[in-house]
Amino acid sequence: MCNSCHCNFSFQASNAFFPAFIFFVTMKQYVIDFQAFKAPNSNEFIIKELALVGVDTNYVAHYFVKPPVSYYTLNPEFQNKIDYVTKHIHGIPWDYGDISFPDMLQAIRAELGWATEIYIRNKERAKEIKQLIKSSNWPIWGEPAIIDLDDVDGFESMNIPPRRNNFNQCSLGTSQHLTTRCSLEQATRYRDVLKNLLNCEEM
Ligand SMILES: [Zn+2]
Repeated sequence: MCNSCHCNFSFQASNAFFPAFIFFVTMKQYVIDFQAFKAPNSNEFIIKELALVGVDTNYVAHYFVKPPVSYYTLNPEFQNKIDYVTKHIHGIPWDYGDISFPDMLQAIRAELGWATEIYIRNKERAKEIKQLIKSSNWPIWGEPAIIDLDDVDGFESMNIPPRRNNFNQCSLGTSQHLTTRCSLEQATRYRDVLKNLLNCEEM
């Protein structure tokens, strides 16, 4: 219990096994957020934007992922759904992106080789990241714990500040994206709340 800020952080990371010496070397924690479309007739995510930020470092990785196929090859019903999500949810056009999905996976896998904890908001998204890690050839010292931010004590919606309207660090600087959901903006905002909670816990 932290008396100075009245928070009570008590989350126990229990999903990962690491040789003890690693804890003396480093504890690497990250917050991840992604924006996506949903594949037709399934709950599968088609990731478009992914942001990964360090909790205790200034590390930032940010990607826009190329589409699996061109928009014009999709059936009109699915195109309508895509248009809706682009317009109202995250503002990212289907065809936008400059890295293939496998290349992005490879890049984050390299960075996260020593990660101990990865925080992400929303159970379904946490499950997706877990599956992505499982499907990758993860380094032998173990998978990081994937922690849903909503399971962290003190991380209630009420404590999360509203979206920053003046956020200007995303490379997709369209007003349609920046006034809906930007992964880079969300990940850094969630990281700031989490960092405050974790620092509280250490006091
Ligand atoms: Zn963005």
